[in-house]
Amino acid sequence: MGRDGTIAIIGAGIAGAAAARRLHDAGHRVVVLDKGRGPGGRMATRRGPDGLRFDHGAQFFTARDPRFAACVEDWTARGIAAPWGGPHRSVGAPGMSAPARDLLAGIDLSCGRAVGRLARAGDRWRLEEADGTALADGAAFSRVLLTCPSPQGLALLAGCGQDLPGLADVRYAPCWTLMLAHDGPPPFEEPARQDDDPAAVFAWIARDGTKPGREGGGTVVAHAAPAWSRANLEDGAD
Ligand SMILES: Cc1cc2nc3c(=O)[nH]c(=O)nc-3n(C[C@H](O)[C@H](O)[C@H](O)COP(=O)(O)OP(=O)(O)OC[C@H]3O[C@@H](n4cnc5c(N)ncnc54)[C@H](O)[C@@H]3O)c2cc1C
Repeated sequence: MGRDGTIAIIGAGIAGAAAARRLHDAGHRVVVLDKGRGPGGRMATRRGPDGLRFDHGAQFFTARDPRFAACVEDWTARGIAAPWGGPHRSVGAPGMSAPARDLLAGIDLSCGRAVGRLARAGDRWRLEEADGTALADGAAFSRVLLTCPSPQGLALLAGCGQDLPGLADVRYAPCWTLMLAHDGPPPFEEPARQDDDPAAVFAWIARDGTKPGREGGGTVVAHAAPAWSRANLEDGAD
């Protein structure tokens, strides 16, 4: 397939990475752009001082569908995922972005590229930064696949006179995340604790140092519950 038939995928999170892999393996030429420093999106591991590592977004993934389970089995055999946290649960190894990185192997990926505008050029699409600078070397794409969260997707669609019914109705629950390193014994023995009480401050506290590839430090990631996060959304991090 020639350059004109190339499909642009916006977002290198797990959705964009999975779509890119399927399209690439089906013989399509794909280009993936992401505004972040690397792939993975909300499946991310942040490096702190002294080599400490924190999964501040997704904590684990659950494989129940047989097709996904087979995929996770392959990742596990190759050290890209590892069981953690209970039956059918896994984490990326050594960090959460490992599965997305694996899916994108051999695929044209550009990070640090924020798509600000979709411009129509005949029956093709061109991608631009917010200030109109051409992205992807000014290439024209036959199709554009949006995998960014709906607010960003809506803004891109509105900018080119397009709409997707239902997209504006998608609501996100905010999540304040606390990343802590501690000396001494862990605060509790099990790998993680969950609190389903909607009035709780913390819905989830994980000892990240128990996750494969993050050993070697007393690290804790605590996710505030949605109600608490919403009530304190505009507060400073301190
Ligand atoms: C705190 C938290 C905890 C979670 N815990 C879990 C969990 O335990 N288990 C679980 O299964 N799921 C969990 N999730 C949900 C899970 O992380 C997401 O469902 C999943 O990672 C979303 O993948 P995605 O590819 O759809 O989107 P994303 O991962 O958001 O990827 C979208 C990508 O698009 C990029 N992008 C956005 N706008 C632009 C633009 N204009 N130009 C270029 N690039 C752009 C972003 O940089 C991003 O990389 C959690 C999420 C959060 C936030």
